[in-house]
Amino acid sequence: MAAVTHLPTMPQGHADLARYKQPALLPSIDLVKTFEKSYRPAYHPAFDSARADIVLQSSDGVLYRIRSYTLRRTSGFFRTMFTLPQPSSISSPPCSPASDSSFASSSATVCDEEEEHIPVHEPSKILTPLLLLLLGRETETPIHHWSFDKVESVLRLAESWDMPGPISLIRLAITAPVFLQAEPLRVFAIASQFEWEEEKACAARHTLRYDLLADRSLRSTLDRLSARDVLQLLRVRRARVEGFRALVDDVHRFSAGNNDSYDCGRCSNSKLDNQTWKDLKQTMVQELEKRPLGDSVGGWLVGGIGARTGLGVMAWKEAEACWMAKCQNPECGSANYDRLTTLKQVRQCVDELTWI
Ligand SMILES: [Zn+2]
Repeated sequence: MAAVTHLPTMPQGHADLARYKQPALLPSIDLVKTFEKSYRPAYHPAFDSARADIVLQSSDGVLYRIRSYTLRRTSGFFRTMFTLPQPSSISSPPCSPASDSSFASSSATVCDEEEEHIPVHEPSKILTPLLLLLLGRETETPIHHWSFDKVESVLRLAESWDMPGPISLIRLAITAPVFLQAEPLRVFAIASQFEWEEEKACAARHTLRYDLLADRSLRSTLDRLSARDVLQLLRVRRARVEGFRALVDDVHRFSAGNNDSYDCGRCSNSKLDNQTWKDLKQTMVQELEKRPLGDSVGGWLVGGIGARTGLGVMAWKEAEACWMAKCQNPECGSANYDRLTTLKQVRQCVDELTWI
């Protein structure tokens, strides 16, 4: 039976590579060259200077030439490491495939097998951006376009290696709107860990959009927080709820609804039944308890945070009942409350709530 022509499977080592080069199996020498360049570890093109004297190797086999002087000046970890007595060979791991195909191409420099490498546990997707930040070079994508997992991983490595430069650059980006919008509690956790007070306060505000204890997606991050940080978040939430309750109960702000002896403003011949207003207040407070920012009460941004979507209180049945409440004098029938004035006052109550 005629054999079906096909390329042999990829060899697993250099011994296999020699066999692979046998003429009977070799379609062309160019294919072998291409294979060798993609198979052997390669230097990242931004870190292939022959003047560098240190080579870091990521867990996926990417190599980075970098000057030990640079590492000593920018990393407490490497400064300490280079002052310790060094073994004759730090490490000389065998060459292995470079999995990052984005630069394991014809433009990448192939490694020197005699060169000594320092292996790093992190993959190139974490090591590359960290080293680029360390050297003040442009990263492939701006930090605020990174996933938050990547931000945390790069930051964790920078902290482990005591690299204040990259840490400070990430700090500048950590309060980008995209992060505060999507991951305010994780921003809060990081800011707390690094004692970045301004960033921590900013992130804390954005967490007010969440039902903190009921939202299951937040549990893992909450578990990482200290009891002090959790209490800080809960304290401001409680302060906003209680503050709102006091403001909507204020007889001067809502003179008709909060005064049971208030007479109808039109006929002055009937006490107002304020039950609908009491029901609406209770519903608004319950909403604040879930989302202390208060944006969902009015459907507006609060302090520049939150969502504009939805009508908020205006779509609630409790509010509708409140606007429909009328004087019980059959000869009057005037509306108990002015809707626009009441909504304006409610909004003002939310805007006056504390942030700390
Ligand atoms: Zn009346």
